[in-house]
Amino acid sequence: MEIFRTVAELRKWSRAVRSQTGNTVGLVPTMGALHAGHASLIRAARASCSRVAVSIFVNPTQFGPNEDFSRYPRTFDADCALAEAEGADVIFAPTVEELYPEGAATFVDVEGLGNRLDGASRPGHFRGVATVVAKLLIAAEPDRAYFGQKDAAQVAVVRRMAADLCVATQIVVCPIVRESDGLALSSRNLYLNPVERSQALALSRSILEVKALIASGERRAVTLIQAARQTLAAEPQIRVDHIALVDWSTLEPLEVAAPGTLFAVAAWVGSTRLIDNTILE
Ligand code: AMP
Repeated sequence: MEIFRTVAELRKWSRAVRSQTGNTVGLVPTMGALHAGHASLIRAARASCSRVAVSIFVNPTQFGPNEDFSRYPRTFDADCALAEAEGADVIFAPTVEELYPEGAATFVDVEGLGNRLDGASRPGHFRGVATVVAKLLIAAEPDRAYFGQKDAAQVAVVRRMAADLCVATQIVVCPIVRESDGLALSSRNLYLNPVERSQALALSRSILEVKALIASGERRAVTLIQAARQTLAAEPQIRVDHIALVDWSTLEPLEVAAPGTLFAVAAWVGSTRLIDNTILE
């Protein structure tokens, strides 16, 4: 497995791969601290692309001034081992200066969507995400790029950005990978102490309850949101950020659930912000 630090190396490799008839490149963008959720994206890319690149970049522009950029877990050697074991061909691990050269002044703002859900409580977050994903897609020129449904609002923002900027890459979305007890895998789970780890289960429990309500025929947003709120309220260290039923394309609130609708929760567990969601079948 090769490790590239520059856009030029990545682009040269991708072009060489794609110059062979029928060869395709898959890109899996990550911030590192890789876990089984990331591994599932790498496997999905491996299954449908000739070559797979995994980017590892803790993107400063998607963190707010008081967020965890400086203490975000950085586990590069273990990440390389995991990526290689899952069949990645290339790691792209640029410096901040490589992706944001001196004087960088161009950002991608996905209007509307970018300020909803996580974008409402993390101003500028999706601007940073859309900007870095656009850079990675331009640098790697992949046929497909793989994202997790775990970050469902991010998926909506990336899809909108890719459509609006005439990006040729196909955006592929993979299911949420969970711990055996239901907690959605997240690099930020590393921050949780044992008490918080057990209280964090309220997020996945609230999602399960909402799924059960929907299976029983309930469709009203107020009822679904109320049920999730009650479950989260039972845990003293949990503070709800948002609970929302939205159109997955526009992230606009809906009053009634329909197929394809996104039900999303975000909550603080102690000082760690976690998210979970379900898409209605
Ligand atoms: P991150 O490193 O947190 O930026 O995540 C990189 C990619 O992995 C994003 O597309 C995430 O949605 C995806 N991802 C993170 N956690 C999970 C999970 N539990 N299941 C599936 N995909 C995930």
